[in-house]
Amino acid sequence: MTYIPIRQCVACRKKGAKSEFIRFSARGGEGRGAYICPNAACIKKAKKANALGRALRVHIGEETYDELLREAEK
Ligand SMILES: [Zn+2]
Repeated sequence: MTYIPIRQCVACRKKGAKSEFIRFSARGGEGRGAYICPNAACIKKAKKANALGRALRVHIGEETYDELLREAEK
């Protein structure tokens, strides 16, 4: 049996394979990661609730969400 890690979007709580989400981590890719759908709706929702900051227990500025937003809109 192959183990498929299931991740969950911090904004809409949708579950799925890792590849379906953007992985976000606080310190340049190291440490704990949080996952979010690559769409503007989820990123805006996360920004409003600071969902990534709460998931990772670190401070995340609004500009970080704006960066993700740009990434998702590419
Ligand atoms: Zn989502």
